[in-house]
Formats: sequence, structure tokens, C-alpha cells
Amino acid sequence: MAVTTVYGVFGSPIDHSLSPCMHNAAFDALGIDATYCAFDVDKNQVEKAIRGAQALGFGGLNITFPLKEAALHLCNPDALSKRIGAVNTIDRRGGGYNTDGIGAVRALEAAGIAVKGTTFLLLGAGGAAKAIAAQLLVDGARLLIANRTVSRSLILARQMTEANIDCGCGDVEAHSLVEVDRLLSEARVLINATTVGMRGVLDGQTLVKATQMHSELVVFDIVYHPLETPLLHEARGAGLQTIDGVKMLVHQGAASFALWTATEPPVQIMEAAVRKKLKHINGAANEDKR
Ligand code: NAP
Repeated sequence: MAVTTVYGVFGSPIDHSLSPCMHNAAFDALGIDATYCAFDVDKNQVEKAIRGAQALGFGGLNITFPLKEAALHLCNPDALSKRIGAVNTIDRRGGGYNTDGIGAVRALEAAGIAVKGTTFLLLGAGGAAKAIAAQLLVDGARLLIANRTVSRSLILARQMTEANIDCGCGDVEAHSLVEVDRLLSEARVLINATTVGMRGVLDGQTLVKATQMHSELVVFDIVYHPLETPLLHEARGAGLQTIDGVKMLVHQGAASFALWTATEPPVQIMEAAVRKKLKHINGAANEDKR
């Protein structure tokens, strides 16, 4: 008798995760007998949870906040996830991967942006910024990192430079947010990988305004909730090309799906499922405000 294969995401808090709807839509579309669930896993239970999933024969796992760094030591990480210091994907054999950076690069490529030789201004030096920086550099980008806490952008640039010696990849520089105007004039693409913008357009919080953006700039905000961040609002108002955070979310999920199933993921179906769910969440939030 066939047994439905279970996949899951471990993190905390996890109740608003979009991954179940994205992966279940993919399994349904491909007729794969599998189900994907979200599990609230406390930091001090992560080892038991991962070992338990392996013992139960889970098809694969996603690992999210705040467990990505701890999970690195509970699997066999590949070279890229070791460089990033975190995993977001574990396969059924215990192999560990980080698909966040791949998700960002695929979102850029889908928007017609070639990474090799292109100058990117990356705002932020947290977990997501690190994953994006590592992948951009492997793919030959020139990278300018600017962070509120400049010591963190320096540490990130140094870590990437040390890693680059081995992989022979692109240039990286560390800066503070004060330098953003000058850095923008050098950049083809601006990526916001900070948490700024999560409170929405009405809040108006953005690290870059339309008046600072040049006419050829492409603006990518990895924040996906809300979909229309103040930064994207500014860029769209200035008539610039934009990429939203759902694109990265879907492509990182698609990369995980391909690792688990060795099957071409139905990216458009996954994206439609995520956008539908977000619309529903936003609708409910607006109802609550009334
Ligand atoms: P994190 O590790 O906590 O890093 C937060 C970053 O935001 C740090 O660089 C921090 O600067 C900066 N920051 C916070 N408040 C700021 C402010 N008021 N002004 C300037 N900078 C500020 O977070 P993360 O895990 O990297 O996630 C960052 C964002 O990316 C979140 O919104 C998350 O939802 C989103 N994300 C999206 C995807 C996707 O697939 N689309 C994937 C992963 C994450 P300091 O160093 O100075 O504190």
C-alpha cells in the first residue's frame, strides 16, 4: 500500500508560513502523493525534531527562523551552506543546502538581470543578506554591501572575501547606510535585504527614496509581507523595474522542491498559490483593522 510522503518546515513562529500552500500546490499539480506541513519547533528541540523527521521517513525539510544556523550542525551541509553558515533545506539522506541565495538569483534572472559582471547594492547584513551575497559572488557579481551597523557589513564582506579566495568569485565591499547615495550611482540593481518595509506603505519606512534612484536602477525588495513595500512603492512611482519578495520566496522553494524530488518544479503554480494566500491574509488583516 502506498504511504503519503510527508515534508515539512520547522521554525518558530510558523503559523503564517506560506510554504505549505506553495509546496502542496506543486504536489497536487504533479500528482505526487505527498503532503507538506508546518511545525512549530522550539530552538532547544531542533535536534530531536530533525532526527525524528528522518526516523519517520520525511521526504525533506525546510528550516526557517530561528533554526537555520543550528540545523547546519545537524546535517551534512554542502559547500555553499557552510559558507553561509546556515541551511534552509535538508533532504531525506540528511544533505543540507541553502536555497535562499539561489532563490534571489533566479528571481533576478527571471526579470532579465544577468548577475555576472553586474554591480549590486545590497542593503542589510543579516541572514538573508548573507545567503544572497554568497550566491551573487559565486555567480560573478560585483557587490556593495551597506548596513545600519557597519561592523556587521564589514564582517560579512570579510567572511565572503575569505570564502572567495577558494571559489575565485566576484568583488565585495562593505559600507554604511550613510554612503547610499554614492553607492546607488554605481549600482545597476538595489536589493533590500533588511526588515525595513515590513510594516507597509502607510508606515512609509524605506531606506531609499525615489529621489535617490537613477533611471536605470532595478529595485528588488525581498520583504514579501506586505507585497507592496514603501521601497517598491517609491520605485514604481519613479517608473523603475521592480522585483518583489514573492519571486525570491517561490524560487527558493522551487529549488528545495527540485532537491527533494529530482522533479522540475511547477514554478508558476507555486507562485499563484503564494499570491492567492497572501491576498487572503492581507484581506483578513484589513478586515481586522475595521
Ligand atoms: P535579520 O537576520 O534579522 O537581519 C535584519 C537586517 O535588517 C539587518 O541587516 C539589520 O541591520 C537590518 N535592519 C533592521 N532594522 C533596521 C532599520 N530600522 N534600519 C536599517 N536597517 C535595519 O533578518 P533576515 O532573516 O536577514 O530577514 C530580512 C528580511 O528578509 C525579513 O523581512 C524577511 O522576512 C525577509 N526574507 C525574505 C525571503 C524571501 O524569500 N523573500 C527570505 C528570507 C528573508 P543591523 O545589522 O544594523 O541590525
